[in-house]
Amino acid sequence: MKTTGHQLVTGRRNALKILGLSSAAFLTGGFRNISSAPVQGQESLNKPPTGLPPIKIKSVKAIGTKPGGSNLVVVKVETTEPGLYGLGCATFTQRAEAVVTAIDKYMPDFCIGRDADNIEDMWQSFYVSSYWRNGPVLNNAISGLDQALWDIKGKRANMPLYQLLGGKCRFAVDTYTSVSGKTPEETADNVLKQMEAGQRHVRIQLGGYGGVGTIGSKPDFKDAGFGMPRDSFMDDQAYLRAVPKMFEGVRKKCGEEIELCHDIHERCQPLDVINLCRHLEEYRPFFIEDPLSPENTHWWKQMRESTTVPFAMGELFNNINEFLEPMSNHYFDYIRIHISQIGGITPAMKVARLGEWFNVRTVWHGPGDVSPVGHSAQAHMDLACWNFGLQEGGGVFSDLLREIFPGCATKKNGYIFVNEAPGLGIDINEQLAAKYPITNSAGNWTVRKRDGTIIRP
Ligand code: MG
Repeated sequence: MKTTGHQLVTGRRNALKILGLSSAAFLTGGFRNISSAPVQGQESLNKPPTGLPPIKIKSVKAIGTKPGGSNLVVVKVETTEPGLYGLGCATFTQRAEAVVTAIDKYMPDFCIGRDADNIEDMWQSFYVSSYWRNGPVLNNAISGLDQALWDIKGKRANMPLYQLLGGKCRFAVDTYTSVSGKTPEETADNVLKQMEAGQRHVRIQLGGYGGVGTIGSKPDFKDAGFGMPRDSFMDDQAYLRAVPKMFEGVRKKCGEEIELCHDIHERCQPLDVINLCRHLEEYRPFFIEDPLSPENTHWWKQMRESTTVPFAMGELFNNINEFLEPMSNHYFDYIRIHISQIGGITPAMKVARLGEWFNVRTVWHGPGDVSPVGHSAQAHMDLACWNFGLQEGGGVFSDLLREIFPGCATKKNGYIFVNEAPGLGIDINEQLAAKYPITNSAGNWTVRKRDGTIIRP
């Protein structure tokens, strides 16, 4: 039987143990210095300096699965080293089939035969390969590839991803979780349950985002037969009146120890948001999320100068360049990147590191439409970024998700713990995933004012 590169590495590791030498020395090239490697300067210039044989990409494919409420898309990259592959999250749940097509129709031609080690080069080349770029479908496709390549690199190095990013800055990843209620009292009761479970940070809402389904009078546009029956109604003025009462009710019942967040989800007018945030200052919110839609970012300066509540922003940004101006001007305090939307670990880490210069911290976007593979990637980054702030979600998965994705991170006392397996430390059961195919719908983000005008989410 043919001996594989992986078997060679494993065999040499065992041999090193017998010799009393560390495998790290071998993996970093140190082995060559103590063996019969050529004297420095005599090596061929085109030989890889790692001591590991180069590996090429053999195949790339998308795996779509919907074991719960969200379409999930994962990229699998196989290499020329038998058994060595990587996984990455490419979940754009509202347009999952478009991402699957982008991956399956364009990535094999682009990737097969390329060196799997050169992540930055691969990212930059795929980014410009379509000439027209900077959209969520292709960004998600690149993200899946990017994360899978980091996964492969971790497996090659025999290290969990956080080690490749600089090692741990903290023992585990602190999180926030979201609760909602029909009334301030119900929301407060749900906060208390989370406090009992060990959470130190909770995001509080009334009904859906903007109070949809809970706050406000009847939607006149429905009586008039305008729009579709499934369209949602948001009474923005009633919502703006209700949010301070919710904070007041939760503070009264839950005390000062718990940190409270709230997501406006870009749905209000900028001046209304400023007035709301001024009201909220006395309740000391940990952050207010998405105060502005991406179309209203020219309001940032006025918003920052008008209130002292911390802001979290950026889950709808398409390109890391969108972060530079607001971060360098201290317009917001927390980076809300959706890792697959921005293109993966490579671009997200650039923004995270930039945040260190401006005292802006990370709160990666982590709802249920991030796959467990993506959650794992986020948790590894959280461990390694000094300017980590908090993590949304992660660590809590259904039994079925844990079966489809062996190696999921776990959560205890509000903290996420990753396993110490190399790379992202997570796998996929493709046969089981295939039993839950993705489904198509045009999306459920149509929210209207009383007269039927569309509200940007
Ligand atoms: Mg948000």
